[in-house]
Amino acid sequence: MSEILIIEDDPFLITSVRQLLEANSFTVREASSAKDGYAAVAEKAPDLLLLDLGLPDEDGVSLCRRIRMKWKFPILMLTSRTDLLDKIIGLEVGADDYVTKPFESRELIARIRACLRRTTEYKPEDEDKEVVRSGELTLDLRQRQASFGDTKIVLTALEFRLLHYLVVNAGRVLEREQLFETVWGYDDEFNSNSLDVFVYRLRTKLERASGKKAIQTVRGFGYRFSLDD
Ligand code: CA
Repeated sequence: MSEILIIEDDPFLITSVRQLLEANSFTVREASSAKDGYAAVAEKAPDLLLLDLGLPDEDGVSLCRRIRMKWKFPILMLTSRTDLLDKIIGLEVGADDYVTKPFESRELIARIRACLRRTTEYKPEDEDKEVVRSGELTLDLRQRQASFGDTKIVLTALEFRLLHYLVVNAGRVLEREQLFETVWGYDDEFNSNSLDVFVYRLRTKLERASGKKAIQTVRGFGYRFSLDD
């Protein structure tokens, strides 16, 4: 049974999320401030963290960054903000995914399951293949470390998974829906914005490291990865 820690200051939301999670066979712990949340993580690392971005004593983004310095469990951000930049920053500091409030029960559960599945299933699947290369780009699947030449590219778990899929399919045009389902691992309602956010982040990081526009947008269809042009 997976244990989920929720750090959220809205008592109503905590109660409803707790009920939802327990009804879906998760064990739940809760904290209503960043201080208590960090202490709860330090006491025992959860299998997954649901982290509110707007906490009373510290910004969720800053807390996420602090937790990521020490722990690798998946972090799903809860945000009431619709601002794209907040989401990008959240993912930048190591969150794995985000859910925008108000969210549907079904969506939250699907995202939690997908996050947990990714962390447990990712390694065995690639056990026999440790390194994937495309030109100067190297993906170390065991360490989940990407580098271009000697430059390390710091990626979140989801960005790494997205890049891995793109690199394995280098040169091919990948349909948006297909890319989303493969990388996110659930076929809930296709979320076009999430994909754009992740691709934007990943593209920027790759461009910074390689000086190349490695991920091309194919309008109305999807994306294509290539380091050749
Ligand atoms: Ca809040």
